[in-house]
Amino acid sequence: DRTTKDWQAADAAHFLHPFTDHQALSAKGSRIITRGEGVWLWDSEGQKIFDAMSGLWCVNVGYGRQELIDAATQQLQTLPFYNAFFQTATTPSIALAEKLAQLSPPQFQHVFFSGSGSEGNDTIVRLVRRYWDLQGHPGRHTIISRINAYHGSTMAGASLGGMVDMHAQGGLPIPGIVHIEQPYFAQHAQPGESHDEFGRRAASWLEYKILEVGPDKVAAFIGEPVQGAGGVIIPPDTYWPEIQRICDQYGILLVSDEVICGFGRTGHMFGCERFGVRPDLITFAKGVSSGYIPLGGVLVGDRVARVLIEQGGEFNHGYTYSGHPVACAVALANLGVIEREGLVQRVHDDTGPYLAQQFAALQGHPLVGEAETCGLMGAIRLVRRQATADAPAEPFASSLSVGMVCRGHCFNNGLIMRAVGDRMIIAPPLILTRELIDEMMARIRRCLELTWVDVQQRG
Ligand code: PLP
Repeated sequence: DRTTKDWQAADAAHFLHPFTDHQALSAKGSRIITRGEGVWLWDSEGQKIFDAMSGLWCVNVGYGRQELIDAATQQLQTLPFYNAFFQTATTPSIALAEKLAQLSPPQFQHVFFSGSGSEGNDTIVRLVRRYWDLQGHPGRHTIISRINAYHGSTMAGASLGGMVDMHAQGGLPIPGIVHIEQPYFAQHAQPGESHDEFGRRAASWLEYKILEVGPDKVAAFIGEPVQGAGGVIIPPDTYWPEIQRICDQYGILLVSDEVICGFGRTGHMFGCERFGVRPDLITFAKGVSSGYIPLGGVLVGDRVARVLIEQGGEFNHGYTYSGHPVACAVALANLGVIEREGLVQRVHDDTGPYLAQQFAALQGHPLVGEAETCGLMGAIRLVRRQATADAPAEPFASSLSVGMVCRGHCFNNGLIMRAVGDRMIIAPPLILTRELIDEMMARIRRCLELTWVDVQQRG
């Protein structure tokens, strides 16, 4: 029967949190989350909170699903662990590999399991370089990624990622990884440029980089269909098809990091399907098990699988938890829920378009520069002054940290949204109904109002 203050003191004394300033944490104390049901969380003070971020983009079927709990319990009782290293396998891992091959685009018949998205992206780095070695091109090792991308926290994951403050700690990126700018219209569009024109121009930055590095040195391009942690940056529809064309032209492997976009987030099973691209490799994690248990991996398309299997011999790479039977059993149950309840279709046909309407209606609010969605992910850019016919929107001074001001109001008003600079982002569970969207929007509007009053007072 420890109090919130006891837990906060023990937390500050012993627990080093990810991505956290511990002096700030100690001063304020963590919020202790104790329970979840559907889209709702409760903290140790009894406050009920609408989780518009699905935990960390992962609890897609909502909290407290009995099917997933039963699957874990049953597998723990039968066989809590066995590995897949020495020509052994467990039935849940085989069944999940088969299921993923069924659910993914037709070129994907093989899967390599990891414990997380970061490990999945480390696997990508070794896999694409191995592919080109086996093809007789050992110099073809450079991977092109994007500024502001997030691909994980391991050395390779953080190097693929384009977060400059991550690169500044620990001597990153590792050699052979280079970056191009992101397709962020509000930041990079030229005056008068349409979204379509901008999408094609942003894709052309890939071609310039390929020519700069040398086409015979580039192994792969990696990108999230929609950059998530970077602020839900939704590319124009012209962007990805042009990226595909460029990769095809130079024979470069195309990798879609679907750790966030996979399993229905965009209203398609995979984000690459939403944007009409045909990747050679897909990284997944999070939504595959709705975050109930750690699981990730790489879907390996035929082009790479054939070479790896027929010419590769042993690929000396893998994790103790590659194909963990309990994780795989939970993922199977989770995918069962997604299919049975038609969640991907629901996002595509109903809740995605409904959320888009609600976000469009925010557009008149004096704080809102743009409010955009893709399926059930969305972002609101907070601006000091809206765009006019002659001038683009005026951003807030970064010293104001307007996102953090808004996040503070969300925190106090039973809503979890994430702040990325001046962008307030959401990725709610896919089980959302129209009624729950209304409830979430009411909370979002209230927090925008409070933020508005706050920034007026601060000048
Ligand atoms: N890739 C993307 C697009 C992500 O958003 C994340 C995590 O947020 C990762 C990779 C890393 O996944 P993990 O935290 O499971 O290692």
